[in-house]
Amino acid sequence: MGHVFPRHTKTNLPTAVSGEGCYIIDQNGKHYFDGSGGAAVSCLGHSDQTVQEAIKKQTDQLAFAHSGFFTTEPAEKLADLLVANAPKGIDRVYYVSGGSEAVEAALKLARQYHLERGDKDRSHVIARWQSYHGNTIGALSAGGNKWRREPFMPMLVPMSHIDPCYPYRDQQEGESDEAYGVRAANRLEEEILKIGPEKVSAFICEPVVGATMGAVAAAPGYLKRIREICNQYGVLLILDEVMCGMGRTGTLFACEHDGVTPDILCIAKGLGAGYQPIGAMLCSRKIYNAIENGSGFFQHGHTYQGHPTACAAGYAVISTMLERNLLDNVNKRSEQLMQALTDAFGQHPFVGDIRGRGLFIAIELVKDRETKTPFDPKLAVHAKIKKTAFENGLICYPMPGTIDGKNGDHVLLAPPFIIQDEH
Ligand code: PLP
Repeated sequence: MGHVFPRHTKTNLPTAVSGEGCYIIDQNGKHYFDGSGGAAVSCLGHSDQTVQEAIKKQTDQLAFAHSGFFTTEPAEKLADLLVANAPKGIDRVYYVSGGSEAVEAALKLARQYHLERGDKDRSHVIARWQSYHGNTIGALSAGGNKWRREPFMPMLVPMSHIDPCYPYRDQQEGESDEAYGVRAANRLEEEILKIGPEKVSAFICEPVVGATMGAVAAAPGYLKRIREICNQYGVLLILDEVMCGMGRTGTLFACEHDGVTPDILCIAKGLGAGYQPIGAMLCSRKIYNAIENGSGFFQHGHTYQGHPTACAAGYAVISTMLERNLLDNVNKRSEQLMQALTDAFGQHPFVGDIRGRGLFIAIELVKDRETKTPFDPKLAVHAKIKKTAFENGLICYPMPGTIDGKNGDHVLLAPPFIIQDEH
């Protein structure tokens, strides 16, 4: 009908016309409870006045100034706020417009860091299977979702993938959580040794896996061991917190839970909370210094990086989150939601696992609980759940199982941090 090129060309979508707290309202006045914040984006709901006013104030004053010519107050203020609340060691904020861009910047910064130090052979990236890092070519190459990768395989950059940390399917009978965490992390060391440490630039992973596996948190000790291995072999650690960061798991940065500081950290989604498209790549002083004391120029950039209006929105989002103690509500509602899901579905014959952290919770579906056998992806169980929920006024985020049967369909819930009892 219209000229918009939608992602799904064979479905007719309702028109979203307004937002009220946790709800989106369509052209017929139907209310949809945003139980997944879209794709874990809308952490403050859809009508936060502080953010809306900050955007208006900034556009009235100055909507845009190119970052090649100017810095701006919103960009400076947001960077200071993020660094003040980031894990110790994180020192600089490089702005982008979304998650994939943050990952692209991270992969390139890692490479340039090694070049600046004369380590010219280090370019290889190690990532994990069943991960998602975005849809641009570099990010897709790092991602380990075979279905997403398949059509574009000839275009992807060669990278290695190790198996993820996935307690539900991978932890052995009688193996402690900690022993499993270390065993899973040691796969990185094996891969580094296989490639040759002198060639490896970086390892990238999500501290809590979102889109491909569904809210799978790293086992205790996993990320600590990963950090040790990276340090030992001079490999940079990139944590992709595009989905799980910005308060989603109950701490502002997801890696706080693991007590690990990466060299480079990617954020987006909750940073702009859907009010503006913004992402960022944060890095440690060590990485920044290599550029500053070397060429003095990061050979990467986008027109809209550091967009003042987006930064003003990001500052309003994060300061609102902190000033209103919304992370306390994330932790409180997390327990409530987990309990409610366990009561409702804990014994369901098709529910294999209910897991997550903070307001980042997923249900993994299986055909058989005993054998953990996933449904045949051709049945598109996830799509049926999405449709039924949506018809009933619930937005949730179901995703298919992987085409190699390594995990089942899952339903991801990531409601706004403002949810209350009645929701
Ligand atoms: N990284 C992770 C972990 C994500 O979940 C996503 C999106 O879902 C991305 C990167 C890509 O972000 P964007 O869609 O904003 O490009």
